[in-house]
Amino acid sequence: MELSEIFYSLQGESSYAGLPCVFVRLAGCNLRCTYCDTKYAYEPKFLLSIDEILKKVEKYYPVKLIEITGGEPLLQADSIELMKLLINKKYDVLLETNNSISLKDIPQEVIKIVDFKTPSSGMCNSILWDNIKYFNGNDELKFVIADRQDFDWSLGIINKYDLIKHHILFSPVYEKLDRKELAEWIIETKLPIRLNIQLHKLLWGDSRGA
Ligand code: SF4
Repeated sequence: MELSEIFYSLQGESSYAGLPCVFVRLAGCNLRCTYCDTKYAYEPKFLLSIDEILKKVEKYYPVKLIEITGGEPLLQADSIELMKLLINKKYDVLLETNNSISLKDIPQEVIKIVDFKTPSSGMCNSILWDNIKYFNGNDELKFVIADRQDFDWSLGIINKYDLIKHHILFSPVYEKLDRKELAEWIIETKLPIRLNIQLHKLLWGDSRGA
């Protein structure tokens, strides 16, 4: 498989934020979001077999939380086999995906963190709406918000597709939208929307985390 990096840190986002986690960052992305902070993952840094990836991950025992991220991890067909093997080994597997590739074949046990590309990303047209039918109760839906237009658009999508029954995460674009302003907007809605701060960036700036 084509990889960008494998590392161990704290989970920075989602309802798992703050927990020790091993990250497997697969290389390559089919999108080009305006605010992308992982451009370095567009090109592979090294190649590993699935077995080699598992061996590297196991070095961090007893950590059992693992995130498969990118880039866009689902561009590599083997990512599904990797997730299945991790589930068999009793890992809690998070998959961070950009919602432009079908989620049909993702194992049920995997917790999908699905990014709904807002207008400011420039990639709004890439959303695969058919994926909504594959969301389950554990999944988390992420909206990365740069301004009030993104915020209102996100509320409109949540309302239109009745997504509020899922875990909803609203993240401010780093250094673009004041997180306090986003917090105030969320409070006004009275909806169960979680303010998703990139904890790793608060702790370490751009240098670590996912
Ligand atoms: S989907 Fe993620 S990795 Fe790809 S361009 Fe957008 S932010 Fe970057």
